[in-house]
Amino acid sequence: MQVPAPFQYEKATSVEHALTLLARYGPESRVVAGGHSLLPMMKLRLAHPEALIDINDLTELSSIGLDGSDLSIGAMVRHADLLASAVVGEHFPILRDAEKMIADPVVRNRGTVGGSLCQADPSEDLSAAFAALRARLVVQGLDGRREIDVRDFFVGPYQTALDDGELLLEIRVPVRPQASAYEKVERRAGDWAVAAAAAVLEIYDDRVMDVGIGLAAVGAAGFVAREAEDNLRGAPVSDERFVEAGRIAAENCNPSADQRGPVDYKRHLAGELTTRALRRAAARALGQEA
Ligand SMILES: Cc1cc2nc3c(=O)[nH]c(=O)nc-3n(C[C@H](O)[C@H](O)[C@H](O)COP(=O)(O)OP(=O)(O)OC[C@H]3O[C@@H](n4cnc5c(N)ncnc54)[C@H](O)[C@@H]3O)c2cc1C
Repeated sequence: MQVPAPFQYEKATSVEHALTLLARYGPESRVVAGGHSLLPMMKLRLAHPEALIDINDLTELSSIGLDGSDLSIGAMVRHADLLASAVVGEHFPILRDAEKMIADPVVRNRGTVGGSLCQADPSEDLSAAFAALRARLVVQGLDGRREIDVRDFFVGPYQTALDDGELLLEIRVPVRPQASAYEKVERRAGDWAVAAAAAVLEIYDDRVMDVGIGLAAVGAAGFVAREAEDNLRGAPVSDERFVEAGRIAAENCNPSADQRGPVDYKRHLAGELTTRALRRAAARALGQEA
Protein backbone atom coordinates (compact mmCIF):
# COMPACT_ATOMS: atom_id res chain seq x y z
CA MET A 1 0.00 0.00 0.00
CA GLN A 2 1.26 3.48 -0.86
CA VAL A 3 1.30 5.82 2.12
CA PRO A 4 2.25 9.52 2.09
CA ALA A 5 5.03 10.89 4.29
CA PRO A 6 3.77 12.41 7.57
CA PHE A 7 2.28 15.92 7.32
CA GLN A 8 0.47 18.51 9.43
CA TYR A 9 -3.21 19.08 8.61
CA GLU A 10 -5.17 22.31 9.08
CA LYS A 11 -8.70 23.18 8.00
CA ALA A 12 -9.07 26.79 6.86
CA THR A 13 -12.29 28.60 7.79
CA SER A 14 -11.87 31.64 5.53
CA VAL A 15 -9.61 32.93 2.76
CA GLU A 16 -7.75 35.09 5.30
CA HIS A 17 -7.28 32.07 7.56
CA ALA A 18 -5.97 29.97 4.65
CA LEU A 19 -3.46 32.70 3.76
CA THR A 20 -2.34 33.00 7.38
CA LEU A 21 -1.83 29.23 7.60
CA LEU A 22 0.12 29.19 4.32
CA ALA A 23 2.37 31.94 5.69
CA ARG A 24 2.78 30.15 9.04
CA TYR A 25 3.81 26.81 7.49
CA GLY A 26 5.86 28.41 4.69
CA PRO A 27 6.84 27.17 1.21
CA GLU A 28 6.60 23.48 2.17
CA SER A 29 2.84 23.80 2.77
CA ARG A 30 0.18 23.19 0.10
CA VAL A 31 -3.54 23.75 -0.05
CA VAL A 32 -5.72 20.74 -0.75
CA ALA A 33 -8.95 21.18 -2.72
CA GLY A 34 -10.46 18.00 -4.22
CA GLY A 35 -7.23 16.15 -3.49
CA HIS A 36 -7.57 14.10 -6.69
CA SER A 37 -4.21 15.18 -8.05
CA LEU A 38 -2.29 16.08 -4.89
CA LEU A 39 -3.07 13.01 -2.76
CA PRO A 40 -2.05 10.45 -5.42
CA MET A 41 1.21 12.38 -5.86
CA MET A 42 1.77 12.31 -2.10
CA LYS A 43 1.11 8.57 -1.97
CA LEU A 44 3.66 8.06 -4.74
CA ARG A 45 6.04 10.38 -2.79
CA LEU A 46 6.23 12.68 -5.82
CA ALA A 47 4.96 15.47 -3.54
CA HIS A 48 5.79 15.67 0.16
CA PRO A 49 4.29 18.82 1.67
CA GLU A 50 4.96 19.26 5.37
CA ALA A 51 1.50 20.79 5.89
CA LEU A 52 -1.82 20.51 4.08
CA ILE A 53 -4.23 23.43 4.32
CA ASP A 54 -7.72 22.12 3.55
CA ILE A 55 -9.85 24.76 1.75
CA ASN A 56 -13.00 22.66 1.32
CA ASP A 57 -14.96 24.79 3.82
CA LEU A 58 -14.40 27.99 1.84
CA THR A 59 -17.91 28.16 0.39
CA GLU A 60 -17.21 31.74 -0.73
CA LEU A 61 -15.07 30.16 -3.50
CA SER A 62 -17.83 27.82 -4.71
CA SER A 63 -20.13 30.03 -6.75
CA ILE A 64 -20.64 30.49 -10.49
CA GLY A 65 -22.36 33.58 -11.83
CA LEU A 66 -22.35 36.57 -14.15
CA ASP A 67 -20.52 39.56 -12.68
CA GLY A 68 -20.53 42.64 -14.90
CA SER A 69 -19.25 41.57 -18.31
CA ASP A 70 -17.55 38.41 -16.95
CA LEU A 71 -18.56 34.95 -15.91
CA SER A 72 -17.03 34.34 -12.50
CA ILE A 73 -16.16 30.77 -11.47
CA GLY A 74 -14.95 30.21 -7.92
CA ALA A 75 -11.78 28.15 -7.52
CA MET A 76 -13.64 25.57 -5.39
CA VAL A 77 -16.38 24.94 -7.98
CA ARG A 78 -16.46 21.18 -8.56
CA HIS A 79 -16.28 19.77 -12.09
CA ALA A 80 -19.83 18.41 -11.68
CA ASP A 81 -21.17 21.88 -10.81
CA LEU A 82 -19.51 23.45 -13.83
CA LEU A 83 -21.02 20.75 -16.03
CA ALA A 84 -24.51 21.26 -14.56
CA SER A 85 -24.45 25.07 -14.69
CA ALA A 86 -27.08 26.55 -17.04
CA VAL A 87 -25.26 29.87 -17.37
CA VAL A 88 -22.02 28.08 -18.32
CA GLY A 89 -23.85 25.91 -20.87
CA GLU A 90 -25.53 28.96 -22.39
CA HIS A 91 -22.44 31.16 -22.79
CA PHE A 92 -19.56 28.68 -22.85
CA PRO A 93 -20.49 25.33 -24.44
CA ILE A 94 -16.72 24.66 -24.64
CA LEU A 95 -16.66 24.14 -20.86
CA ARG A 96 -19.63 21.78 -21.00
CA ASP A 97 -17.96 19.82 -23.86
CA ALA A 98 -14.74 19.54 -21.84
CA GLU A 99 -16.38 18.65 -18.55
CA LYS A 100 -18.41 15.81 -20.11
CA MET A 101 -15.11 14.11 -20.92
CA ILE A 102 -13.15 14.75 -17.72
CA ALA A 103 -12.66 11.52 -15.77
CA ASP A 104 -15.85 10.00 -14.30
CA PRO A 105 -18.65 11.17 -11.97
CA VAL A 106 -16.65 10.22 -8.85
CA VAL A 107 -13.73 12.47 -9.81
CA ARG A 108 -16.05 15.20 -11.14
CA ASN A 109 -17.98 15.32 -7.85
CA ARG A 110 -14.83 16.08 -5.90
CA GLY A 111 -12.20 17.63 -8.21
CA THR A 112 -12.27 21.41 -8.53
CA VAL A 113 -11.74 23.90 -11.32
CA GLY A 114 -9.07 25.71 -9.30
CA GLY A 115 -7.24 22.48 -8.50
CA SER A 116 -7.21 21.55 -12.19
CA LEU A 117 -5.60 24.85 -13.16
CA CYS A 118 -3.13 24.97 -10.25
CA GLN A 119 -2.01 21.41 -10.91
CA ALA A 120 -0.91 22.54 -14.42
CA ASP A 121 -0.81 18.96 -15.64
CA PRO A 122 0.00 19.21 -19.39
CA SER A 123 -3.04 17.01 -20.13
CA GLU A 124 -5.55 19.04 -18.08
CA ASP A 125 -8.62 19.71 -20.24
CA LEU A 126 -9.80 22.89 -18.50
CA SER A 127 -6.37 24.51 -18.90
CA ALA A 128 -6.70 24.29 -22.70
CA ALA A 129 -10.32 25.46 -22.62
CA PHE A 130 -9.60 28.48 -20.39
CA ALA A 131 -6.50 29.33 -22.46
CA ALA A 132 -8.67 29.45 -25.59
CA LEU A 133 -11.20 31.61 -23.71
CA ARG A 134 -8.45 33.99 -22.50
CA ALA A 135 -9.62 33.74 -18.91
CA ARG A 136 -8.11 35.82 -16.10
CA LEU A 137 -7.22 34.29 -12.77
CA VAL A 138 -7.73 36.23 -9.56
CA VAL A 139 -5.19 35.25 -6.91
CA GLN A 140 -4.59 36.52 -3.41
CA GLY A 141 -1.67 36.53 -1.01
CA LEU A 142 -1.25 38.26 2.33
CA ASP A 143 0.04 41.32 0.44
CA GLY A 144 -3.09 41.67 -1.69
CA ARG A 145 -4.89 40.56 -4.80
CA ARG A 146 -3.73 40.42 -8.43
CA GLU A 147 -5.03 39.14 -11.76
CA ILE A 148 -3.02 36.85 -14.02
CA ASP A 149 -3.82 36.22 -17.68
CA VAL A 150 -4.32 32.46 -17.90
CA ARG A 151 -1.82 32.39 -20.78
CA ASP A 152 0.85 33.68 -18.39
CA PHE A 153 -0.26 31.40 -15.55
CA PHE A 154 1.15 28.17 -17.00
CA VAL A 155 4.91 28.51 -16.63
CA GLY A 156 5.67 24.89 -17.54
CA PRO A 157 4.53 21.34 -16.77
CA TYR A 158 3.20 21.34 -13.19
CA GLN A 159 4.46 24.92 -12.71
CA THR A 160 2.35 28.05 -12.42
CA ALA A 161 2.87 31.77 -11.84
CA LEU A 162 1.41 31.47 -8.31
CA ASP A 163 3.84 32.76 -5.70
CA ASP A 164 4.40 30.88 -2.43
CA GLY A 165 1.53 31.61 -0.08
CA GLU A 166 -0.91 32.68 -2.82
CA LEU A 167 -4.37 31.21 -3.30
CA LEU A 168 -6.36 31.08 -6.53
CA LEU A 169 -9.76 32.60 -5.75
CA GLU A 170 -11.63 32.91 -9.00
CA ILE A 171 -11.53 32.41 -12.77
CA ARG A 172 -13.06 35.25 -14.81
CA VAL A 173 -14.08 34.76 -18.44
CA PRO A 174 -15.30 37.68 -20.56
CA VAL A 175 -18.81 37.09 -21.93
CA ARG A 176 -18.65 38.08 -25.60
CA PRO A 177 -20.59 37.27 -28.76
CA GLN A 178 -18.55 34.18 -29.51
CA ALA A 179 -18.97 30.48 -30.20
CA SER A 180 -16.84 27.70 -28.79
CA ALA A 181 -16.23 23.95 -28.78
CA TYR A 182 -13.90 21.31 -27.31
CA GLU A 183 -12.81 18.06 -28.98
CA LYS A 184 -10.86 15.29 -27.27
CA VAL A 185 -9.64 11.80 -28.12
CA GLU A 186 -9.18 9.44 -25.18
CA ARG A 187 -8.28 5.75 -25.18
CA ARG A 188 -11.40 4.86 -23.20
CA ALA A 189 -14.21 6.83 -21.59
CA GLY A 190 -12.95 8.85 -18.62
CA ASP A 191 -9.27 8.65 -19.51
CA TRP A 192 -6.91 11.58 -19.84
CA ALA A 193 -6.59 12.99 -23.36
CA VAL A 194 -4.37 11.45 -26.00
CA ALA A 195 -4.84 14.92 -27.49
CA ALA A 196 -7.52 17.60 -27.25
CA ALA A 197 -8.30 20.95 -28.85
CA ALA A 198 -10.34 23.95 -27.74
CA ALA A 199 -11.68 26.58 -30.16
CA VAL A 200 -13.28 29.97 -29.55
CA LEU A 201 -14.47 32.02 -32.54
CA GLU A 202 -15.70 35.58 -32.78
CA ILE A 203 -17.32 35.90 -36.19
CA TYR A 204 -18.57 39.09 -37.85
CA ASP A 205 -19.71 39.41 -41.44
CA ASP A 206 -18.41 35.91 -42.29
CA ARG A 207 -14.93 36.77 -41.03
CA VAL A 208 -13.00 35.53 -38.01
CA MET A 209 -12.64 38.71 -35.97
CA ASP A 210 -10.85 36.90 -33.17
CA VAL A 211 -9.95 33.32 -32.34
CA GLY A 212 -8.63 31.35 -29.39
CA ILE A 213 -7.16 27.87 -29.89
CA GLY A 214 -6.07 25.72 -26.95
CA LEU A 215 -4.35 22.34 -27.04
CA ALA A 216 -4.00 19.76 -24.25
CA ALA A 217 -1.58 16.82 -23.99
CA VAL A 218 0.55 17.72 -27.02
CA GLY A 219 3.18 20.02 -25.49
CA ALA A 220 1.79 23.34 -26.73
CA ALA A 221 3.46 26.16 -24.76
CA GLY A 222 0.94 27.56 -22.28
CA PHE A 223 -1.72 25.25 -23.84
CA VAL A 224 -2.04 27.73 -26.76
CA ALA A 225 -1.72 27.21 -30.54
CA ARG A 226 -0.56 30.79 -31.22
CA GLU A 227 0.64 30.31 -34.81
CA ALA A 228 -2.71 28.80 -35.81
CA GLU A 229 -4.57 31.66 -34.11
CA ASP A 230 -2.45 34.24 -35.95
CA ASN A 231 -3.10 32.49 -39.24
CA LEU A 232 -6.88 32.42 -38.79
CA ARG A 233 -7.46 35.87 -37.29
CA GLY A 234 -9.08 38.13 -39.93
CA ALA A 235 -9.61 35.26 -42.40
CA PRO A 236 -12.94 34.38 -44.04
CA VAL A 237 -14.91 31.66 -42.27
CA SER A 238 -14.22 28.61 -44.45
CA ASP A 239 -13.46 24.94 -44.05
CA GLU A 240 -10.19 25.38 -45.95
CA ARG A 241 -8.98 27.91 -43.41
CA PHE A 242 -9.98 25.63 -40.50
CA VAL A 243 -8.03 22.76 -42.09
CA GLU A 244 -5.05 25.08 -42.58
CA ALA A 245 -5.26 26.23 -38.93
CA GLY A 246 -5.24 22.55 -37.89
CA ARG A 247 -2.19 21.89 -40.03
CA ILE A 248 -0.35 24.82 -38.44
CA ALA A 249 -1.37 23.77 -34.91
CA ALA A 250 -0.04 20.25 -35.57
CA GLU A 251 3.21 21.57 -37.01
CA ASN A 252 3.93 23.81 -34.01
CA CYS A 253 3.03 21.60 -31.06
CA ASN A 254 5.55 19.38 -29.32
CA PRO A 255 4.04 16.06 -28.21
CA SER A 256 5.97 13.34 -26.39
CA ALA A 257 5.60 9.62 -26.98
CA ASP A 258 4.08 7.71 -24.04
CA GLN A 259 1.62 4.91 -23.28
CA ARG A 260 -1.12 6.98 -24.99
CA GLY A 261 0.62 6.99 -28.35
CA PRO A 262 3.60 7.94 -30.51
CA VAL A 263 4.52 11.51 -31.49
CA ASP A 264 3.19 11.32 -35.08
CA TYR A 265 -0.22 10.07 -33.95
CA LYS A 266 -0.57 12.82 -31.34
CA ARG A 267 0.54 15.47 -33.83
CA HIS A 268 -2.02 14.20 -36.32
CA LEU A 269 -4.72 14.33 -33.64
CA ALA A 270 -3.74 17.87 -32.64
CA GLY A 271 -4.37 19.01 -36.22
CA GLU A 272 -7.55 17.04 -36.79
CA LEU A 273 -9.09 18.00 -33.44
CA THR A 274 -8.23 21.68 -33.97
CA THR A 275 -10.07 21.61 -37.31
CA ARG A 276 -13.04 19.77 -35.79
CA ALA A 277 -13.30 22.14 -32.83
CA LEU A 278 -13.21 25.16 -35.19
CA ARG A 279 -15.89 23.58 -37.42
CA ARG A 280 -18.11 22.87 -34.44
CA ALA A 281 -17.68 26.35 -32.98
CA ALA A 282 -18.56 27.84 -36.39
CA ALA A 283 -21.66 25.61 -36.65
CA ARG A 284 -22.72 26.89 -33.24
CA ALA A 285 -22.15 30.49 -34.32
CA LEU A 286 -24.50 29.86 -37.25
CA GLY A 287 -27.08 28.24 -34.97
CA GLN A 288 -26.63 24.85 -36.66
CA GLU A 289 -25.60 23.07 -33.44
CA ALA A 290 -26.37 23.57 -29.76
C1 LIG B 1 -8.81 8.94 -12.11
C2 LIG B 1 -8.65 10.38 -12.50
C3 LIG B 1 -8.91 10.74 -13.82
C4 LIG B 1 -8.79 12.07 -14.22
N1 LIG B 1 -9.04 12.39 -15.53
C5 LIG B 1 -8.93 13.67 -15.92
C6 LIG B 1 -9.19 14.05 -17.27
O1 LIG B 1 -9.58 13.25 -18.13
N2 LIG B 1 -9.02 15.35 -17.61
C7 LIG B 1 -8.62 16.29 -16.70
O2 LIG B 1 -8.48 17.46 -17.09
N3 LIG B 1 -8.38 15.97 -15.41
C8 LIG B 1 -8.53 14.70 -15.01
N4 LIG B 1 -8.27 14.37 -13.70
C9 LIG B 1 -7.83 15.42 -12.74
C10 LIG B 1 -9.01 16.05 -12.06
O3 LIG B 1 -9.55 17.02 -12.94
C11 LIG B 1 -8.59 16.69 -10.73
O4 LIG B 1 -9.72 17.02 -10.04
C12 LIG B 1 -7.76 17.97 -10.87
O5 LIG B 1 -6.57 17.73 -11.55
C13 LIG B 1 -7.29 18.52 -9.55
O6 LIG B 1 -8.33 19.10 -8.86
P1 LIG B 1 -8.40 18.92 -7.28
O7 LIG B 1 -9.44 19.85 -6.80
O8 LIG B 1 -8.55 17.49 -6.96
O9 LIG B 1 -6.96 19.49 -6.84
P2 LIG B 1 -5.98 19.03 -5.66
O10 LIG B 1 -5.47 17.65 -5.93
O11 LIG B 1 -6.58 19.28 -4.35
O12 LIG B 1 -4.80 20.10 -5.88
C14 LIG B 1 -3.98 20.07 -7.04
C15 LIG B 1 -2.90 21.14 -6.89
O13 LIG B 1 -3.47 22.45 -6.96
C16 LIG B 1 -3.21 23.18 -5.74
N5 LIG B 1 -4.44 23.94 -5.49
C17 LIG B 1 -5.71 23.46 -5.48
N6 LIG B 1 -6.59 24.47 -5.31
C18 LIG B 1 -5.86 25.61 -5.20
C19 LIG B 1 -6.20 26.98 -5.00
N7 LIG B 1 -7.47 27.41 -4.93
N8 LIG B 1 -5.19 27.89 -4.94
C20 LIG B 1 -3.90 27.48 -5.03
N9 LIG B 1 -3.52 26.21 -5.23
C21 LIG B 1 -4.49 25.28 -5.30
C22 LIG B 1 -2.87 22.15 -4.70
O14 LIG B 1 -2.04 22.69 -3.69
C23 LIG B 1 -2.16 21.10 -5.54
O15 LIG B 1 -0.83 21.51 -5.76
C24 LIG B 1 -8.39 13.05 -13.27
C25 LIG B 1 -8.15 12.71 -11.95
C26 LIG B 1 -8.27 11.39 -11.56
C27 LIG B 1 -8.02 11.02 -10.11
